[in-house]
Amino acid sequence: MKKYIKLIYILFIVITMVMISSQVYAAQCPVCNGTGHPPGSSGVKCPRCNGTGTIAISEHTAGEIIDEAGTFIQKGESGAEGKISQSDLQDLSNTIYNILLVVGIVVAVIAGLIMGIKFIMGGIEEKAEIKNMLIPYIIGCIVVFGAFTIWKIVVELLQSM
Ligand SMILES: [Zn+2]
Repeated sequence: MKKYIKLIYILFIVITMVMISSQVYAAQCPVCNGTGHPPGSSGVKCPRCNGTGTIAISEHTAGEIIDEAGTFIQKGESGAEGKISQSDLQDLSNTIYNILLVVGIVVAVIAGLIMGIKFIMGGIEEKAEIKNMLIPYIIGCIVVFGAFTIWKIVVELLQSM
């Protein structure tokens, strides 16, 4: 039984690591929205992602996020109708998505690591406690990352309409 729990835990860490490497290091390019071409052109390579459609989230700097939010607010305040274009909304949606995804992953990884360390180092009582927390933790992760997946699917469906 103990071996079984440990195996699940190791498996979960591996899955989390794979998720981090695929999601964090391959975020959708905010310039071309993952198409690889700047908006409105099809033959030109996107200068930001070099035509790959993906960038590392770490490339998406804090300054850039503030700039995007600032431009968005400015356009809203100027009041002129239609000034907030669809691509601005998409950019903002992508930015918020990426920030929340990183926060979600960081929280899940830290919680998982704390549980893992407690499980390995702790006494019998603590081990029993961690075992009870494991299922709610996994369900929580599925709900949170499932919500992200649904968000992504909805956004992509709306974009293709
Ligand atoms: Zn791009």
